Amino acid sequence: MRIVAIRETAIPINSTLRNAVFDFSEMTTSVVAVITDVMRDGEPVAGFAFNSTGRYACGAQMRDRFIPRILKAPPESLANAAGDNLDPESILACMMQREKPGGHTERSVAIGTIEVAVWDAVAKIAGKPLHAVLAEKYNGGKVLDRVQCYVGGGWYEPGKGLKELQDEIRAKLDQGYTTMKIKVGGAPIPEDVKRVEAALKIVGSSGRLAVDANAGFNRARALSYAQALAPFKLRWFEEPTDPLDFALLADVASIYESPIGTGENLFSTQDVENLVRFGGLHADRDIIQTDVPQSYGIVQFSRTLDMLKLHGWKRHSIFPHGGNQMTLAIVGGFGLGGCEAYPGVFGIFAGFADDAKVEDGYLRLPDRPGIGFEAQNTLYAVMHELAAG
Ligand code: MG
Repeated sequence: MRIVAIRETAIPINSTLRNAVFDFSEMTTSVVAVITDVMRDGEPVAGFAFNSTGRYACGAQMRDRFIPRILKAPPESLANAAGDNLDPESILACMMQREKPGGHTERSVAIGTIEVAVWDAVAKIAGKPLHAVLAEKYNGGKVLDRVQCYVGGGWYEPGKGLKELQDEIRAKLDQGYTTMKIKVGGAPIPEDVKRVEAALKIVGSSGRLAVDANAGFNRARALSYAQALAPFKLRWFEEPTDPLDFALLADVASIYESPIGTGENLFSTQDVENLVRFGGLHADRDIIQTDVPQSYGIVQFSRTLDMLKLHGWKRHSIFPHGGNQMTLAIVGGFGLGGCEAYPGVFGIFAGFADDAKVEDGYLRLPDRPGIGFEAQNTLYAVMHELAAG
């Protein structure tokens, strides 16, 4: 069996949203199709992925380096020992040939997106949902049927005040979610404190509200926000500092006693290890938010988890960034803390199966083979067209 083609296309997200640092007006994502010569129901099996949320399309690197490396490799070098399926670990190693250490995002998003698409194909060839394949390999065969899911929302939008923020949260609770994350840092501190108070009135308890500063604070502002937010004892305070400023993060962590979340803008196992060694975080309460397709994919993520375990971190403290089907399968497969959701935003890339239902803050894992993009009609139409060439 072999990979016969890998195709990539860039799709605009078409969003008017804004966080503390930037707006999404130019945001794009790469959609990838990995086409194999294995036939199922009269069609070649194709694996799909996209590069999650918040990093631009990266087709140039895929087309110039990673796709040619895979297509040039002897097919048997990319297959498992039995020769009946692809081997993602070998495919990752193949893409990493002649790559210099460090400088991760230049390639980690492109490699991770192709790698996750390979896993979609692997699961389809095995005839199992991806979360079940991952559970067998990485979670002692413990196949879950549902995972905790929270809403990443509360963006700043033109004309959106406290009432509109509360309406947004109320609508998400009506859909079955119980925990909400809202943006902070895009307004003066007193105004953001009012937004937090308004949100708390709707979610009902501080353990059900997180805030996200999107790494937009300098030292003075990070420490001021930590002081202003500390009394609320929120579920977590996300990205209070630049993702690589571990010294400032440690200073924030020393005055902020409730959980801190970070990691969506760290793209390698080494960067995450530096975070837990030098960022002043606490394994018993803080949250790590790796975005798996943006960080070299699933095999590398399993190595990050092994590293975290050595530093005392448990899987329930990992809440991967990216409210999408890929992350849902990864959270379920590895048995992680929970999954993010962006209901109704980020266009065709938002959310889960069209008929997915959230119950009491939990989302059921899909039971179709692969990641399950086939149950997201508009997105799958784009993917299917890409695979058809
Ligand atoms: Mg975030």
